[in-house]
Amino acid sequence: MPLYEYDCERCGTFEVKQKMDDAPLTEHADCGAPVARRISLSSFSLKGGGWHADGYGGGGGGPSCGTGGCSSGGCGS
Ligand SMILES: [Zn+2]
Repeated sequence: MPLYEYDCERCGTFEVKQKMDDAPLTEHADCGAPVARRISLSSFSLKGGGWHADGYGGGGGGPSCGTGGCSSGGCGS
Protein backbone atom coordinates (compact mmCIF):
# COMPACT_ATOMS: atom_id res chain seq x y z
CA MET A 1 0.00 0.00 0.00
CA PRO A 2 1.50 3.37 -0.97
CA LEU A 3 2.56 5.82 1.69
CA TYR A 4 1.47 9.40 1.12
CA GLU A 5 2.83 12.53 2.72
CA TYR A 6 0.49 15.28 3.81
CA ASP A 7 1.04 18.75 5.15
CA CYS A 8 -1.30 19.55 8.02
CA GLU A 9 -1.84 23.22 8.79
CA ARG A 10 -1.63 22.45 12.48
CA CYS A 11 0.68 19.47 12.84
CA GLY A 12 3.01 19.77 9.88
CA THR A 13 3.99 16.81 7.77
CA PHE A 14 2.63 13.35 8.42
CA GLU A 15 2.34 10.14 6.47
CA VAL A 16 -0.72 8.08 5.70
CA LYS A 17 -1.05 4.71 4.07
CA GLN A 18 -3.78 4.71 1.49
CA LYS A 19 -4.92 2.55 -1.33
CA MET A 20 -4.24 3.78 -4.81
CA ASP A 21 -7.93 4.42 -5.43
CA ASP A 22 -8.61 6.15 -2.13
CA ALA A 23 -9.49 9.81 -2.40
CA PRO A 24 -6.88 12.21 -1.02
CA LEU A 25 -7.50 13.41 2.50
CA THR A 26 -8.82 16.93 2.91
CA GLU A 27 -8.50 17.13 6.67
CA HIS A 28 -6.33 15.54 9.32
CA ALA A 29 -8.14 12.74 11.12
CA ASP A 30 -6.30 13.57 14.36
CA CYS A 31 -6.91 17.29 14.58
CA GLY A 32 -9.39 18.20 11.87
CA ALA A 33 -7.21 20.86 10.26
CA PRO A 34 -7.02 21.12 6.46
CA VAL A 35 -4.28 19.12 4.80
CA ALA A 36 -2.67 19.07 1.38
CA ARG A 37 -1.09 16.03 -0.13
CA ARG A 38 2.54 16.34 -1.07
CA ILE A 39 4.02 15.20 -4.30
CA SER A 40 6.75 12.76 -3.49
CA LEU A 41 10.05 14.28 -4.53
CA SER A 42 11.80 10.98 -4.81
CA SER A 43 9.56 9.74 -7.59
CA PHE A 44 10.14 12.85 -9.68
CA SER A 45 13.84 13.49 -9.23
CA LEU A 46 14.78 10.68 -11.59
CA LYS A 47 13.17 12.40 -14.54
CA GLY A 48 15.15 15.62 -14.65
CA GLY A 49 18.85 16.33 -14.82
CA GLY A 50 19.81 12.71 -15.18
CA TRP A 51 22.24 12.07 -17.97
CA HIS A 52 22.96 15.75 -18.57
CA ALA A 53 25.00 15.70 -15.40
CA ASP A 54 27.25 13.01 -16.83
CA GLY A 55 28.87 15.31 -19.38
CA TYR A 56 26.61 14.69 -22.36
CA GLY A 57 25.40 17.90 -23.86
CA GLY A 58 27.19 19.89 -21.22
CA GLY A 59 29.55 21.61 -23.64
CA GLY A 60 32.58 20.53 -21.66
CA GLY A 61 35.48 19.96 -24.00
CA GLY A 62 34.13 21.37 -27.22
CA PRO A 63 34.62 19.56 -30.51
CA SER A 64 37.36 17.01 -30.51
CA CYS A 65 40.36 17.53 -32.74
CA GLY A 66 41.88 14.88 -34.94
CA THR A 67 45.23 13.32 -34.32
CA GLY A 68 46.95 16.30 -35.96
CA GLY A 69 45.75 18.78 -33.38
CA CYS A 70 43.75 21.83 -34.18
CA SER A 71 45.58 24.10 -36.55
CA SER A 72 42.58 26.25 -37.27
CA GLY A 73 41.96 27.13 -33.66
CA GLY A 74 38.44 25.81 -33.83
CA CYS A 75 38.94 23.74 -30.71
CA GLY A 76 40.10 26.60 -28.61
CA SER A 77 43.45 25.03 -27.86
ZN1 LIG B 1 -3.14 17.74 12.07
